[in-house]
Amino acid sequence: MAKLIAGNWKMNGLLGSGKDLAQALAKRIRSMETNAEIAVFPPGPLIPPILRAVSDTSIWVGGQDCHWNGAGAHTGDVSAQLLADLGCSGVIVGHSERRADHAETDGQVKGKAEAALAAGLKVIVCVGETEAERDAGQMETVVRTQIDGSLPSGGTVDTVIVAYEPVWAIGTGRTPYLDEIGVMHSLIRNRAAGLVLGEGLRILYGGSVKPTNAKEILRIPGVDGALVGGASLTADDFWGIIESCP
Ligand code: PEP
Repeated sequence: MAKLIAGNWKMNGLLGSGKDLAQALAKRIRSMETNAEIAVFPPGPLIPPILRAVSDTSIWVGGQDCHWNGAGAHTGDVSAQLLADLGCSGVIVGHSERRADHAETDGQVKGKAEAALAAGLKVIVCVGETEAERDAGQMETVVRTQIDGSLPSGGTVDTVIVAYEPVWAIGTGRTPYLDEIGVMHSLIRNRAAGLVLGEGLRILYGGSVKPTNAKEILRIPGVDGALVGGASLTADDFWGIIESCP
């Protein structure tokens, strides 16, 4: 299966710079070979122009979050249905920045993931331990609890993707040892086996993936791709990661 390289732009980019980045990626994918599946997750208001910029490529576009309800009085939120209606193929839920900034619980993340599936979107469900949890030796318990509580009912390996993102590795330039990533991915795979239907759940690693470390990370058995923050904001760096796919 192709590795999925997903760029989470977070709250970065304006109309001009967002379009420039998407056009630069589209140009590369039109002219160069890659084995990877590529997705970008721009800030919500940039979704329509980014969809247009990549429309004649295989790059798919998604939202960074959605509400668990289909519509209603939820000022500032976006429904999964609207994302699908715009032309998005997927959505990220449960990113650690959402869990921290908006006090999102596993139950809410699960509700968002189920709303995404109901809208026909693929969903990337993020899990990962904080540094304090890791130092306390709780990382496996924390991630197991997040998997049990956040994965949607009714998901299949074609619609649900998990991203293992140790919180302490996000945006810090630090990453776990390669064997630790492999251990956590197999723990997640085993735990999710009864929750997501089918064989071959895709599990992405996220946290300071760069062109310089992508090759070794993407070769770890059980790593099916990467969720990339900072390095997805420049076409050269993001492409460097894409090119690192085996
Ligand atoms: C992320 O926030 O999903 C992420 C992986 O960020 P970075 O690549 O910047 O660590």
